[in-house]
Amino acid sequence: MTAITQSVDLDRRGRIAVLTVSNPPVNALSQHVRQGLHDGVKQTTADAAVGAIVVTCAGRTFIAGADITEFGKPPKAPGLHEVLVLIEQSEKPAVAAVHGTALGGGLEVALACHYRIGSKTARFGLPEVKLGLLPGAGGTQRLPRVVGVEKALQMIVSGDPIGADEALTHGLLDAIVEGDLTAAAVAFAEKVVSERRPLKKIRDLEDKLAPARGRPELFAAFRKSVARQTRGFRAPESCIRAVEAAATLPFDAGLARERELFLELLHSPESKAQRYFFFAEREAAKIPDVPPDTAAKEIRRAAVLGAGTMGGGIAMNFANASIPVTVVEVAREPLERGLGVVRKNYEATASKGRLTPADVDRRLGLIHGTTDFGEIADADIVVEAVFEEMRVKREVFAKIDKICKADALLATNTSTLDVNAIAGATGRPESVIGMHFFSPANVMRLLEVVRGAKTSKTTIATAMAVGRRIGKVPVLVGVCDGFVGNRMLHARGREAEKLILEGALPDQVDKVLYDFGFPMGPFAMGDLAGLDVGWRIRKGKGVTSPVADRLCEMGRFGQKTGAGYYRYAGSDRTPIPDADVEKIILEVARDQGIQRRAISDAEIRERLLYPMVNEGAKILEERLAIRASDIDVIWVYGYGWPVYRGGPMFWADQVGLKTLKSRMLEFERQHGPVWQPAPLLARLADAGRGFVEQ
Ligand code: NAD
Repeated sequence: MTAITQSVDLDRRGRIAVLTVSNPPVNALSQHVRQGLHDGVKQTTADAAVGAIVVTCAGRTFIAGADITEFGKPPKAPGLHEVLVLIEQSEKPAVAAVHGTALGGGLEVALACHYRIGSKTARFGLPEVKLGLLPGAGGTQRLPRVVGVEKALQMIVSGDPIGADEALTHGLLDAIVEGDLTAAAVAFAEKVVSERRPLKKIRDLEDKLAPARGRPELFAAFRKSVARQTRGFRAPESCIRAVEAAATLPFDAGLARERELFLELLHSPESKAQRYFFFAEREAAKIPDVPPDTAAKEIRRAAVLGAGTMGGGIAMNFANASIPVTVVEVAREPLERGLGVVRKNYEATASKGRLTPADVDRRLGLIHGTTDFGEIADADIVVEAVFEEMRVKREVFAKIDKICKADALLATNTSTLDVNAIAGATGRPESVIGMHFFSPANVMRLLEVVRGAKTSKTTIATAMAVGRRIGKVPVLVGVCDGFVGNRMLHARGREAEKLILEGALPDQVDKVLYDFGFPMGPFAMGDLAGLDVGWRIRKGKGVTSPVADRLCEMGRFGQKTGAGYYRYAGSDRTPIPDADVEKIILEVARDQGIQRRAISDAEIRERLLYPMVNEGAKILEERLAIRASDIDVIWVYGYGWPVYRGGPMFWADQVGLKTLKSRMLEFERQHGPVWQPAPLLARLADAGRGFVEQ
């Protein structure tokens, strides 16, 4: 065995040269990997004793992508493209032996080889689109030549990987092998040599492209089919154009077009934001005073209290992660209703083909309903999702404190109540924590983990770990009204209400946010969530919101009553602007002596988004979020902030904090002290800095 570079070894098995990449943890294509492959292929092609080359990887996976720490830095030779040309042009057959995942540049390496074999569990994908990019080393030109244009479009535009069986069906794999992969690859290569099989250079393949040549309608139909999911993103369209180039241009011209489109994306604000967010999500797992080696408790059994809107969804999360869960209700009736909703949800998923009937049965089998609190005595974690009332919550926590085993984690899903006061109802506040799920709880990825004053590090580590295990993105926050997400949402909601009194209408306000990239605006969202929820909370606090209160008094609670800020035709969820609502708005404005005026979309955008950023700044100063990027993760995963704009704090930096500050000072003159820039925002603006240090 010879080391070519620190991460690539060359070994000879008879007349077959084996190049092994070893760059843990995922064999990313760092400079020394590219160099090793480059030099290794050069050496072996010059060696008359070598008949063929096998490219394989050590560790748990094939090459799983680019080394993204090299992004944004000056490129270091050799470039991947150069390495791939060398492999493809080699006169000796090259065989890629894939296990784990061949992703991004990894799959592009495999595509430059003349043959590909893989283990049964191997996966293949080009996920660049998820970072706002496209596969820039021939992936968009080679993949359609192997799997056909339609499959290539689907893989490149979704970024989702496919399994070995599918890869074999579509011609991406020549064989699936079992047992020792390298030995199988050597045997395969040996056969290629002894049978004198021709070199299969993907660049020269034509047959799979033929059906798409001269058929622009095929691309038009694909564009239409993904329009909804890709709205606002830049990369998907560039991916489609690159594949279109494969179907319309000769290979080298196609490669040049791919390069051009790649560079455009690399410098685009969308990709910059998406790459920032990729790291932001990973950062959120890091808690300075709870290091990664903090012992987390093992979770074998869970319990959920309350089988309402949230409880049912939370129970599904545990069952989906194969954790048995006991759901406790006050009476049979709400229990059965709740479990009925769970069953319906699973059946709906199964009817779309995303779960087998056996999966449904297995998951339902893990959910056990009861009205007997005694049955949660052995639960390792309890998530409370009962009515949002402090008295009820405290009663429930006092009760479970007596029942649950000593080392159980006790979590509350409260959205507005003080976690410390809830913890205070138990004799073990160190084991109490907030786990704030978002509705629908079985779908939304965000989990705000709310640290109380006495919450222990073990409890925090356990909540974060179990959150990840059930497929969520946990973000640690502190106790305050609304925690991080809803507190910022309220700042936005306050301005939205003002804007409709000053002259805008709900559909104008909503459209501005929709066009910004949110799935919907604040009024459509209120109608979806139910206006009665906020109404009840306001009544509890003795505050008013004149338009919303009037709507609720009329029984207009939103979609569920067929009318709210909008009206709804039958079961159709499309909001229809309603003249009755406009009348109410005009009346309230008149009563308050407000002279209505035309408000520009630009002002609406600033009025809605700047207060969120300002609230975010206060949250950071109060140390209720660890870092600005955590706030961004919360907004992308919990509230539909478009990821191609990074998140509110990142976005504010792009706008420029100086701009924000001066505009806020103008609004302060017009609308009062609520617009005063937060001290942190003002300080950073004056220093010419941003929230996110990059
Ligand atoms: P819900 O009214 O739909 O369900 C509450 C359930 O708790 C009811 O089925 C009720 O019978 C049951 N319950 C009441 N007292 C109980 C007790 N002592 N023991 C066991 N069960 C009891 O309410 P929800 O919307 O699911 O909200 C539950 C919690 O989740 C609240 O704290 C709420 O603030 C929070 N939350 C709600 C949302 C949301 O969008 N609905 C989002 C995040 C958090």
